[in-house]
Amino acid sequence: MPKSITTLRCACGQFSLEVIGDPFSASECHCKSCRSAAQRLSTLPPAFPIAADNGGVPYALYRKDRVRFPDGTTTLTEFRLHDDAPTRRVLTTCCYTPVFLEFESGHWVSLFTGLWPEGQRPAPRIRTQTGDVPDGETLDDSLPAGTLTTAGFYAKLLGERIAMGFKSPKITVKEKIDA
Ligand SMILES: [Zn+2]
Ligand SMILES: [Zn+2]
Repeated sequence: MPKSITTLRCACGQFSLEVIGDPFSASECHCKSCRSAAQRLSTLPPAFPIAADNGGVPYALYRKDRVRFPDGTTTLTEFRLHDDAPTRRVLTTCCYTPVFLEFESGHWVSLFTGLWPEGQRPAPRIRTQTGDVPDGETLDDSLPAGTLTTAGFYAKLLGERIAMGFKSPKITVKEKIDA
């Protein structure tokens, strides 16, 4: 059966991207970088809040060969926590819609789930990096987390990397943003 194609649009409609099939994973990240980026970018402000109410950032993970940019990538801008950070968060320049998080040379992108209309958002299945949750904050136990869960998550990432023949297509983003 052919995989379905979903078109996701920015808040103002100038930018769209297409994803093929379902994400290979959906997670809620609690690492310091995701928290700090969500906080710094909140000053823009972005078209939708990057972090969930519990402080984690929900992502839908897609292999790069399952994501297409029918309008190109010239309306995108990248944000890095510092100049030589190996990760970047990409937003649209038109309306600051958060689009994805990417590790340099990674074979996948983590799309911000706020891109999907409410009710169609891929629900996070696991939590990662919960060791970074600040003291005094607690998470409910509605989702699995911890070492074993995270190990399974990385195994899945590796599996997708093998399936892609160890390729990591480049996504060109020329603009930069400070926050
Ligand atoms: Zn827009
Ligand atoms: Zn994170």
